[in-house]
Amino acid sequence: MPFNQIALAKYRYYRLALAAAMGLLTLLLTLGVRIYEQTRVINQDQQRVARHTISKLETLLLPANAVSFDKLVQSSPNCSSQQPVLQQVVARLQTLRAIALVRNGKILCSSLVGAVNYDFNQLLPQLALGPSHLQLRASMMTPDAIPTLVLWRPEGSDNRNGLLFVYNIGVLANFLLEPQRPYASGIVLNVLNKSLEYDKNQIMSRDALEKKPILSIRSGSYDFSVSIYGDDATTLAWSELPAHLPLSLLISLLTAFAIYLLSGSRLSLAYPISHAISHREFQVYCQPIINSADGRCVGVETLMRWKNRRQEWVSPDVFIPLAEQHDLIIPLTRYLIKRVSENLSLFPARPDFYISVNVAAQHFNGMVIVEDIRQLWLSAKPELSLMLELTERTRLQELSTEQISALKEMGVMLAIDDFGTGHSSLSYLKTLNPDVLKIDHAFTASIGTDAINATVTDTIITLAQRLNLKLIAEGVETREQADYLRKRGVDSLQGYYFARPMPIEIFPLWLKRYEKTDLTVTSA
Ligand code: C2E
Ligand code: CA
Ligand code: CA
Repeated sequence: MPFNQIALAKYRYYRLALAAAMGLLTLLLTLGVRIYEQTRVINQDQQRVARHTISKLETLLLPANAVSFDKLVQSSPNCSSQQPVLQQVVARLQTLRAIALVRNGKILCSSLVGAVNYDFNQLLPQLALGPSHLQLRASMMTPDAIPTLVLWRPEGSDNRNGLLFVYNIGVLANFLLEPQRPYASGIVLNVLNKSLEYDKNQIMSRDALEKKPILSIRSGSYDFSVSIYGDDATTLAWSELPAHLPLSLLISLLTAFAIYLLSGSRLSLAYPISHAISHREFQVYCQPIINSADGRCVGVETLMRWKNRRQEWVSPDVFIPLAEQHDLIIPLTRYLIKRVSENLSLFPARPDFYISVNVAAQHFNGMVIVEDIRQLWLSAKPELSLMLELTERTRLQELSTEQISALKEMGVMLAIDDFGTGHSSLSYLKTLNPDVLKIDHAFTASIGTDAINATVTDTIITLAQRLNLKLIAEGVETREQADYLRKRGVDSLQGYYFARPMPIEIFPLWLKRYEKTDLTVTSA
């Protein structure tokens, strides 16, 4: 498989892998956020259920405060007259089962059975002696042992006088403690060490409850708490996961698709470059190089042009560095050399005419460049010469003397491009031992306008002449520049003044027309 196709396949695989990884990450992230959010919401709901139950129970107990002990005792001297008053209160507060009157530590009168005489301390020690004013216990006045909630409302400070309110909590529990699925599969009322559950109709010891509650909240006004049983918020959130899956999957698929598209177009031109190589979207242009002494065209520099799928021109200053970054510059240069080799008939077939090719640093890894020239150039048996242009961006360590001598043996000329703009011009000269220096167009442009750069231009010219190197000045745009450079002994000139870069197919026409003109005028 050719290199560019391998690169293409590799790049496609990379894009797919990137898109899949981002899609998966999005899926995990959206589900993670969903579970976190659901857990928080369910937890709040569970707390809300417990608080709501507490407030209902408090509303149940609150009216007992309005019953006046003093009034009852003062207006009615004995139980036979007190019982009807107590019965009236029970009738008014429908949730009550009974009220009993406690005087001097004795339970003396009950709305249910009338006069009694029980020792308060013995019958209800938790209320008479303990800190609590509430107790869950089986009914005391009737034999059916139904669950009741007893509220003790003492009068005075000695805890020996007061009223006992007995609530039908067994029946009430069926309304107050009804489960709220899925947040609470069980709601339990706890008073001291006793508990009452929905629908059980039986008071249990708190320790006897099978499971641990997921949360318990105490009442702020009375001595009871409410516990919520069931699955905890995290478990519930996980159980709701399948419901969120379709949306999360859709979001992650869209993300993956967007990443796939973006990685192929805007984020990177690497894929289009490799696509363009295989679809021959690159075109080879050339720009004539003119001998300054006699005005004849002595060679051309090849330059790459790219009209992409949307028919837009992409500048080489954009795609060449990208191709270098993405290891596509070697296939691109190979493509160019191949196209030129296939079109040798467009150029004069003589050894003193050369075709100059820009070559990137990577191409000098190992003997790749030598092998490529042998296979792509020499195999076409060209009668004209080849020159390679290296910029000073080419790292020196990539250049081996072995490569350089192999290239020279093959008759390939070497040129340093953009000379004077890099950092290591002189050491570069020594290592590369070039045939040609190309003066960068910034120096050409300085002629007659910028004294400092013009001095550098003169210095470069003198240096090249001392070292016996040929010089090509780039970016010659005016006759003044051409005249100046010719007078200073610069061998060749290249620039818009002579010709703009043109498609290689046009070159023979251009050359024909150019040679018909009076060359001495151009070079005079
Ligand atoms: P470069 O090698 O210095 O090429 C000369 C650039 O100067 C070309 O720009 C050319 O069109 C432009 N030029 C020529 N005459 C004039 C002139 O009179 N005035 C001005 N202002 N400019 C002139 P282009 O074609 O846009 O290429 C830009 C750079 O892209 C090239 O600079 C070269 O470094 C790189 N490049 C182009 N084709 C290839 C290629 O096939 N391989 C490699 N490795 N690099 C290439
Ligand atoms: Ca060049
Ligand atoms: Ca240049």
